[in-house]
Amino acid sequence: MHPYNSLNLALHVGDDANVVLQNRKSLKEQLSTASGLPHMAPMFMNQTHGANVFVVDGVTDIEPSADALITQLPGIALCVLVADCIPLLMWDQQVNVIAAVHVGRRGLLNGISAKVVDLMRMMGAQQIQAQIGPSICGLCYEVGEDVYSEVVAQHPSTRSQTALGKPALDLRSGLEELLSTLEVPTEVVPGCTAEDLGLFSFRRDGITGRQAGVIWN
Ligand SMILES: [Zn+2]
Repeated sequence: MHPYNSLNLALHVGDDANVVLQNRKSLKEQLSTASGLPHMAPMFMNQTHGANVFVVDGVTDIEPSADALITQLPGIALCVLVADCIPLLMWDQQVNVIAAVHVGRRGLLNGISAKVVDLMRMMGAQQIQAQIGPSICGLCYEVGEDVYSEVVAQHPSTRSQTALGKPALDLRSGLEELLSTLEVPTEVVPGCTAEDLGLFSFRRDGITGRQAGVIWN
């Protein structure tokens, strides 16, 4: 439903819950088709821009308060909901460990991505790969001077400016650099949520839906 069209997957943004649940059901069917597993279970989380990591050890309808989900179980699809923040997906094929991480400005500062990489390595991962999905770009993500200084001090590669020369942050560059120092090869899916009208953008629209980054075993 407008302004959530189409395929909004988030229950917390004011959309009709029945429509969202229908959208999630449709995602479940698509996942089952794509994976060839008849009972693929998507798992969502209640994202708080915090650093909590939740290890999924069984299928449940409860959405844990976390910004990262990790699992080694087959038949579970981990979903991260975004509208400008970065959906980060990671996996290691040898030990079948997968992760979905929500990385916004606060997530970049609180170190959640490094925490997930550490945990995956503790679970036996030795060849983690990552994919960064579409998010707001460095030209569009204008911020105030104080926020700019705080983030750039910790992640210099986020330094950016808008077309009009206002301070801005390139969170993708910051995350790419971080993953590179962690020795995790990363593929970046291009696209800016604020510029691409086919994607949800909180910055552009305020009240809007959430798309999902999804990974499964
Ligand atoms: Zn942009």
